[in-house]
Amino acid sequence: MFLRALILTSAAALATGSALAEEVNVYTTRQPELIQPVIDAFAEKTGVTVNLGFVEDGIVERLVAEGSRSPADLVMTVDIANLKQIVDADVIQPVDSAVLTAAIPAPLRDSDNLWFGLTTRARIVYASKDRVGDGEVTTYEDLASDKWKGRICTRSGTHDYNLGLLSALIAHDGADAAKSWAAGVKANLARKPQGNDRAQVKAIWAGECDISLGNTYYMGQMLADPEQIPWADSVRIVFPTFANGGTHVNVSGVALTKAAPNKDNAIRLMEFLVSEEAQKIYSEVNNEYPVLAGAKVSDLVASWGSFTPDNIDLGSVANERPNALRIMEEVDFDG
Ligand code: FE
Repeated sequence: MFLRALILTSAAALATGSALAEEVNVYTTRQPELIQPVIDAFAEKTGVTVNLGFVEDGIVERLVAEGSRSPADLVMTVDIANLKQIVDADVIQPVDSAVLTAAIPAPLRDSDNLWFGLTTRARIVYASKDRVGDGEVTTYEDLASDKWKGRICTRSGTHDYNLGLLSALIAHDGADAAKSWAAGVKANLARKPQGNDRAQVKAIWAGECDISLGNTYYMGQMLADPEQIPWADSVRIVFPTFANGGTHVNVSGVALTKAAPNKDNAIRLMEFLVSEEAQKIYSEVNNEYPVLAGAKVSDLVASWGSFTPDNIDLGSVANERPNALRIMEEVDFDG
């Protein structure tokens, strides 16, 4: 009920937004409670009012429909696929900011300055503490080997998170190798792809499989839910790498709309979001990783250990998405 009231209030605030006031309007697909703490810190520091509009579905269609009359200055969303979709819809303008380019490593921002990563999440392996030995999980490529036969659980192959991983694999190893890999992983599945990332950990807890693919922050979400704590306790996080790279990461990010009625304050907010203070808050709320080198992670995130993020450019990864989708369909991954 509270959330509903918040969303309605935000929508009303956006509808009456004016370029004259000291404000910034943000459309976000992220849950408002994940963003609010960092927004509050910005508002407190600058006196600028930030109106958050939570847009669960159809954010691209909405921005296109609103065109130059859109009240939105910034779009905040997760996954490179969503950021690319917004950029491809031609509703974004570049931001030339030395602050942003200094704070965000090049692979995590657009080379034309159209989107900027704010936090990362690694796509890792959740491994049964009882049934998977230290060192048994190695590379993503190895997940297609016979030793995992009947031992892997995952959500749909066509979910953004798995398409992102497969896109990165294509970028590393080429489309033919990626197709063999997808077929190999499918052959190793303990059951047909179903459910979300946490449902796979539940399946490990229940003994249905030994490892699953999942994003790191779901460990934090499971530990925050009494029913799911036993699932979380049955696994440990292992960071696989690509054979010729690091661990696959994706981003949550931000982009400036073409319409941006409050452009200057919007860029101030973007720059604040990569400050040490904001990076700590923003990454901690959802147990993600900061993009700013040296920014603090939460104690929980630190407890998972360190890893080397893959350094392949996320823009190149996004470009492989159509190929990744085609491969998942050709191998009938979910079938
Ligand atoms: Fe998620």
